Amino acid sequence: MYLSLRDVTKRFADVVAVDHVDLDLTEGEFVCFLGPSGCGKTTLLRVIAGLEELDEGRILLEGRDLADLPARKRNFGVVFQSYSLFPNLTVARNVAYGLECRKWDRARIDARVGEMLDIVHLRGDAGKHPHELSGGMQQRVALARALAPEPSVLLLDEPLSALDAKVRESLRGEIRDLQKRLGITTIMVTHDQDEAMEMADRIVVMNSGRIEQVGSAEDLYWEPATRFVGQFIGRLNIIEDPALRDRLGAGGGASVLAIRPEHVSVGPDGMFEGTVRKLAFLGNTMRLDVETSGQNMEIEIHGRREPLTVGDTIRFALPENRVRRLAASPA
Ligand code: ATP
Repeated sequence: MYLSLRDVTKRFADVVAVDHVDLDLTEGEFVCFLGPSGCGKTTLLRVIAGLEELDEGRILLEGRDLADLPARKRNFGVVFQSYSLFPNLTVARNVAYGLECRKWDRARIDARVGEMLDIVHLRGDAGKHPHELSGGMQQRVALARALAPEPSVLLLDEPLSALDAKVRESLRGEIRDLQKRLGITTIMVTHDQDEAMEMADRIVVMNSGRIEQVGSAEDLYWEPATRFVGQFIGRLNIIEDPALRDRLGAGGGASVLAIRPEHVSVGPDGMFEGTVRKLAFLGNTMRLDVETSGQNMEIEIHGRREPLTVGDTIRFALPENRVRRLAASPA
């Protein structure tokens, strides 16, 4: 394993921000920490960076315990949401900063700065100051600055969330390409499900300081381990109504029965009946809110079909092989 977290715990007074986290990263992997606000993802990243001390557990890089290495000695590149560039330094000097701290010689610094600015397409802006650049450009400078000293791990803390949607989209691809090209092991914190699904090799879904599940976007979507993961990655109907549960053979058990909106099958032979309460036409998809047995069922229909209106009664089936049985909380 390249980077290993063993039983990592971090508390702030009586808040357990990170609660006994175990995780292994292979070299060159891109991992996202994904979860709602307050789940501990930023704290976990900061603990790895050495910006917060851990209370329990160990962090190992290629088998070496990092406990005694302060942040500046870890050789991890860090990029924050707010760019944190030095406003009074030019783009080139910002990128050179870490290399100067490491006492690289001038010629080597100049060569490396040029190389990094090429990589982030900012060679022509080397002499500008941060305030002369757009947010997206500033974040590319921050990325170049973090990568210049050839860090062993790149840590990105919501690097795209301050940018507008268009820039964010294009930077997603740019960061991912760059990461692949350099083969640098990367951890990115995000609360944006789409961002994590598009960029990460593996997603670590966090909830209340703990890891709920780790897997590829597809693993998490198709095989969510818990109700929380199922609802956080994509949309999910939880089948609450006892009558519906009975008809699906759930028995009185505690397991959560769930189905994705696109797996509900609408048609005249369906076993269930409901009333359309809301309709949204989204191009190739129609999203319906259907009231059935006292609960709402979100249903997605793809492709063209007979027009529907609010108040219509429709029949639908909940195919057995599409109904998921989920744990209410992590095992
Ligand atoms: P967000 O996306 O809102 O940043 P997050 O998932 O990154 O959320 P953290 O910022 O890691 O979550 O916070 C986890 C928990 O630890 C929260 O309850 C938060 O209030 C608490 N916390 C974080 N930093 C501190 C601190 N410096 N002092 C006290 N409590 C803190």
